[in-house]
Amino acid sequence: MKAIQVRQTGGPEALETVDLEIPKPKPHEAVIKIEAAGVNFIDVYYREGRYKAEIPFIDGQEAAGTVSEVGAEVQSVKVGDRVGYTGVLGAYAEYAAVAADRLVPIPSGVSGREAAAALLQGMTAHYLVNDTFPLKEGQTALIHAAAGGVGRLLVQTAHQLGARVIGTVSTKEKADLARQAGADEIILYTQADFEAETKRLTDGRGVDVVYDSVGRETFLKGLNVLRPRGMMVLYGGSSGAVAPFDPILLTQKGSLVLARPSLQHYVMSRFELTARAQAVFRMILQGKLQLRIEHTYRLSEAPQAHRDLEGRKTTGKLLLLP
Ligand code: NDP
Repeated sequence: MKAIQVRQTGGPEALETVDLEIPKPKPHEAVIKIEAAGVNFIDVYYREGRYKAEIPFIDGQEAAGTVSEVGAEVQSVKVGDRVGYTGVLGAYAEYAAVAADRLVPIPSGVSGREAAAALLQGMTAHYLVNDTFPLKEGQTALIHAAAGGVGRLLVQTAHQLGARVIGTVSTKEKADLARQAGADEIILYTQADFEAETKRLTDGRGVDVVYDSVGRETFLKGLNVLRPRGMMVLYGGSSGAVAPFDPILLTQKGSLVLARPSLQHYVMSRFELTARAQAVFRMILQGKLQLRIEHTYRLSEAPQAHRDLEGRKTTGKLLLLP
């Protein structure tokens, strides 16, 4: 099978197309013939070595496809089942062996591509607004990178909960997309100072929550736009990691709360994983979560997919199609 392997961490060129044996399942695993693999920023972190994996490894954390073989102890799925998963390295490939208890069934009405586009980013949006900071009607959220993969879904879920959404984006085209997703206000943070704009838009009161995936370039200013006891939800670092700081800063800025959540801790049990995945699929089937799969690439084009994602050229979801 073809797979995209990293033998030495580094830039997009570190993603090499290689020929490997189709994996054999361990007793608790199923082998998935992959129809589509999601491209996510976390794949960049692994490729760069910011997140560690034993080398060589196949990049990618999210895929959907069909079960082609099951291990001796597997009872929850059978050959031919349509399934998706996230959180298991090795998705940039034609086949992957995955622990059966990490697989979720894809309901009819949801395509493999949609499942691969929705699981990681959709479940992330879901836990961020429902669990990390349970967003309520009438509250105001500042969402950075509002036209991005997670960002667009987060805007939709926050809007549906009745929150007022202020989104930041880098271009006019992205501004239109974020508005279509439900953002009430948009700030072009590459042209305007988002701190001053957010204060103006909230009449100086500040927002209840900041959902920040940009990190280094936005984090400190984000603390200045929160109301007292508001929450900074730092969930990524697309512009780089946030520098260390003294926690007294949170007191000085108004007894703020800082969360640094990760999806893996919100889908730890089988129950939570399936409930959250089902909730996301339900929203898709009800038309409440509109996916945007604009960027599809062949497996061998993985380096270009990473260049586009890192180069801020993309909106919505990127998929690799083996
Ligand atoms: P996006 O589609 O959001 O792409 C990244 C976006 O970040 C860009 O399009 C760009 O939007 C913005 N950005 C701002 N500054 C930079 C910069 N210097 N370089 C690159 N991009 C920049 O990616 P994903 O949806 O895949 O991921 C978004 C973030 O969410 C990532 O940081 C990722 O790690 C994190 N994440 C965290 C999870 C968690 O559970 N903690 C789970 C899933 C994702 P613009 O041009 O509008 O500024």
